[in-house]
Amino acid sequence: MERQGLNAKVSTNDCKGENISRKRKIAEHRKSLPVASVENLLIQEVHRNNTLIIVGETGSGKTTQIPQFLFNAGFCRDGKAIGVTQPRRVAAVTVAKRVAEECGVEVGQKVGYSIRFEDVTSSSTRIKYMTDGLLLREALLDPYLSRYSVIIVDEAHERTVNTDVLLGFLKKVQKTRSRSLNDSFNTRNTNISGLVLENGNNGKYVSSLRQHRGRKLPPLKLIIMSASLDARLFSEYFGGARAFRVQGRQYPVAIFYTRKHVSDYSEGTLITIFQIHLEESPGDILAFLTGQEEIESIENLAKDKIQKLPESKRNLVIIPIYSALPSEQQLRVFAPTPPGVRKVILATNIAETSVTIPGIKYVIDPGFVKARTYDPNKGMESLIVFPTSKAQALQRSGRAGREGPGKCFRQYPEDMFYKLEDSTKPEIKRCNLSNVILQLKALGVDNVTEFDFLEEPPRQAIFKSLEQLILLGAIANDGKLSDPVGHQMARIPLDPIYSKALIVASQSNCLEEMLITVSMLSVESIFYHPREKLEEARAKMKSFSSPEGDHLTLINVYQSAEEFLNKKKLELSKEKLEKSLRKWCKENFINSRSLRHARDIHSQIRRHVEQMGLPLHSCGDDMLQFCRCLAASFFLNVATKQPDGTYRDCASGEMVQIHPSSVLFRKKPDCVIFNEFVQTNHKYIRNITRIDRLWLSELAPNYYALKS
Ligand code: ADP
Ligand code: MG
Repeated sequence: MERQGLNAKVSTNDCKGENISRKRKIAEHRKSLPVASVENLLIQEVHRNNTLIIVGETGSGKTTQIPQFLFNAGFCRDGKAIGVTQPRRVAAVTVAKRVAEECGVEVGQKVGYSIRFEDVTSSSTRIKYMTDGLLLREALLDPYLSRYSVIIVDEAHERTVNTDVLLGFLKKVQKTRSRSLNDSFNTRNTNISGLVLENGNNGKYVSSLRQHRGRKLPPLKLIIMSASLDARLFSEYFGGARAFRVQGRQYPVAIFYTRKHVSDYSEGTLITIFQIHLEESPGDILAFLTGQEEIESIENLAKDKIQKLPESKRNLVIIPIYSALPSEQQLRVFAPTPPGVRKVILATNIAETSVTIPGIKYVIDPGFVKARTYDPNKGMESLIVFPTSKAQALQRSGRAGREGPGKCFRQYPEDMFYKLEDSTKPEIKRCNLSNVILQLKALGVDNVTEFDFLEEPPRQAIFKSLEQLILLGAIANDGKLSDPVGHQMARIPLDPIYSKALIVASQSNCLEEMLITVSMLSVESIFYHPREKLEEARAKMKSFSSPEGDHLTLINVYQSAEEFLNKKKLELSKEKLEKSLRKWCKENFINSRSLRHARDIHSQIRRHVEQMGLPLHSCGDDMLQFCRCLAASFFLNVATKQPDGTYRDCASGEMVQIHPSSVLFRKKPDCVIFNEFVQTNHKYIRNITRIDRLWLSELAPNYYALKS
């Protein structure tokens, strides 16, 4: 904000001057990065090895520089591209923008990015940053990844489920790529083309086959980059692949612990921010929090507190960063602060290794992270706040010593640190695998248990997830994707249960409503309830609430916002329209960032379903029809009321409660469908709609006839 104000005042000549000096600064910065001194050596290694593992401290320049080295070394000749995968959307976006600037081009030209729901690339893109999940989706259309000469799997140590699956898939592609496509046509890979052709994506794919038939594709170079020191696992998996180490720079970081256990780490974090600000020397602060909701609440509290400081101490700016933040706001963390102003960044664990923020001298680490967990016996997946591992705690404190000696304030006593797990369990061992299985099957891997995983997921989880896909009708009796439902589900970039809901809704003439529902369910916390205005916020929420439940309530919010925008559209410019929507959100206690994210998701999925030819009808005022459609879609998530007012989840038998944020919290209907488990000190279900249990045997006869 401050920067904009300053820029507005400078003349065009000054702007030119500023541009030149910024360019010079960037060039100097690039030269000073640890990877810069090993450029030639690195390129040699890539020429010599088809698979290379690069290990280097966070901030050494791996993500931003290495793709540029490869480009300059000629790896994009013949129009081929370098693909760089990231586990996180934020990293793909911010890094692409930075690298585009370093190259002096507009993002989307030579350097671009592609993440789910946002593609900023063009035919001239040669360095493409993307999420690991997105590359897997691309593989459905181009199973040999023929447009890439090099794939860099970045942040491999994060071990997201998509990274793990991608590594297995790339290993296979590498083997096939050196053979001629004519040969491989007669091998198992026929499966791949067969499926994709059936899938209806054939236009693009057939042409890519024609282009390469009978011709050898160049071998696929694979680079695996990781911040952690343990490269052995990756090296062994790729048949003893060579590991290359980049020497980083790290200054000492003093670690401080609390004397006693901290009962409320949000409060602890807030207090520590102000202690540092008032007592410590200049330098920016980075605090690790667990999610959007927590970040926003601390952001608001901190902003209030700043106002209460004496004028001379108000030189503190609070900047949030998390994955659902609109991308232009994500870049704010990199903007230098004016002299004398201290920046406080409130981040999720994306700032651990994915995004390197300059200027950090102080780190606050409450010691928690939000992560997925899956109970394969019960088939329950939930997001839980866990203690970090030792490796994560070390990564976090390391962020304070990038540019000089720093300090890290851990919000727990020292003996706690020694009790932490050494490293984080890979996600593939603690998540629902139905998405993975669906994707592997779409890629032609029919027997998932035979897939060459870096580390095997639990068998029980595979079977439970397979069972879920069969119940959703995605898998046919022969174990392959069903036609057309399974194929359609694999094409929609959503959780299988949501993809299925869209297909069911298209058949019951309420796809409009279901599209809004899944978009709103894909974002965190639409409503917000500030402590000081609780009653007012509740009253506003009531004005949107539907007696049927949360799904219709969310639709009401979305449609009211659309109505508001439609009314204002004619009189306001785009910018003013956005601003007035933010004002509308504020008045209605709606989280405008979440709503905006939901609207983006909505327009993207809408494009997908339109391309697939699903009829986009609305059921208008026929709420009964929509509720029946919800029951038909989410029949795997049904809970029934018990005499004591708690609920029993029909699938797992687990006892749960309605989450206090639900509009049905006090109403307690007999039978509900829900979309989420939340586990804190209680087990809650969230996003709930009342249904008639008699519908179930009619709408999901296979499942409920078996059950009763
Ligand atoms: P690594 O991948 O080894 O962790 P990066 O290539 O991400 O390192 O970062 C190298 C340097 O570039 C860091 O000093 C970082 O602060 C800087 N940097 C990265 N992205 C941006 C950005 N969007 N704006 C400004 N500086 C950035
Ligand atoms: Mg990096």
